[in-house]
Amino acid sequence: MVILLLDIYFDNAATTQVDPTLLQSWIELEQTYYANPSSLHQAGRKVAKQIKQARQELASFINASSEEIIFTSGATESNNSIFAGFDYDLIITTTIEHPSVLEPVKQAAKPIEWLEVNQQGYISLEQLSQLLEKHKGKKILVSIMHANNEIGTIQDLIKIGELTSQYPEVIFHSDCAQSWGKHDIDVRAAKLDAISASGHKLHAPKGIGLLYLSQRVQSQFQSVFKGGGQEFDFRSGTENLSGIILFNQATKLMADAANKQYLKELVQYFYDSMKSNSGLVLNGPDLSDRLLGNLNISFVDSKLNSEELVLQLDLAGIAVSSGSACSSNKRETGIISSYVLRACGLAETISSKAIRVSLSRFNNKTEIDYFIKIIGELARKFVLK
Ligand code: PMP
Repeated sequence: MVILLLDIYFDNAATTQVDPTLLQSWIELEQTYYANPSSLHQAGRKVAKQIKQARQELASFINASSEEIIFTSGATESNNSIFAGFDYDLIITTTIEHPSVLEPVKQAAKPIEWLEVNQQGYISLEQLSQLLEKHKGKKILVSIMHANNEIGTIQDLIKIGELTSQYPEVIFHSDCAQSWGKHDIDVRAAKLDAISASGHKLHAPKGIGLLYLSQRVQSQFQSVFKGGGQEFDFRSGTENLSGIILFNQATKLMADAANKQYLKELVQYFYDSMKSNSGLVLNGPDLSDRLLGNLNISFVDSKLNSEELVLQLDLAGIAVSSGSACSSNKRETGIISSYVLRACGLAETISSKAIRVSLSRFNNKTEIDYFIKIIGELARKFVLK
């Protein structure tokens, strides 16, 4: 007997499929614009022109200027470059950053002040203000992610920038890998010095991202990549033309009002369909306030922990994530819940049973109905007695 499994992808915060309309452009771009943009000949100059236009459009998308956009391979590279590229005395960051911030922070071997978060994942502006005042005069690198990849919390970058900009020696960076295209980012209004973003979170191919670096701090930044002097000498290496163009196109598609509205409605439909399931807890902020497409839910009446639930759903053809269930912690302490949810102070009974569902415009209500059916079956089968 052939068992037909539905192939439902609800893990779009991890990565996304390339938008089918961009796949065709990708082939055409590789066929047409393969010359090196640093070359003097016409073919090279045509590529350089394409990159210039995409850079301008991406810059204006966040209210930056073109010279402040540096293309990279993705947010991990952008985040790492920040900690390696600046000279600073102290780091202020949050306990819920992505590992591509947390690891370089730890390896920087500089003093660290940790910003704690509340149950919804928000930092305290008061704590930030106190820390900035306590370390007044020091060169501080403040790194606070815009939207959390697990719990969907969106920090108020404008309010944070109001505080950090009172101290001229402070550099303010934000990891915007999850929010890019989905939520407004205005680097001038938020007085941001640096942000990181990544194309594959919004249906562009993998391997393209950017680092915004304000003119104010550029003279302090030392490039990690030395070589041909591309990207204003901040990131040597032959440019990824098709990646850059597709990142720009994908940004427009993601930021489109109809796309955002569709995603909002889909998340609402998901949540409304789930609500009747007893023992269900939504972790993080209310639906109206969270990262577009993100749901983080715990099934507290179930015997299954996050990973078991992910595997049961996988058997039914549904891909979701358990967040960043920290495997080293699991080995050492037997704790398998996400460090983000624990940092938010959620009880182990909730954090150990959480899964992250992240939707995209390629999902639909039929898939959600199927998920609800399966989760209902699992709830009955693995009910906590
Ligand atoms: N920061 C956040 C918040 C992320 O979610 C991710 C991807 N999981 C990254 C950084 C790293 O992005 P990339 O995979 O493009 O390097």
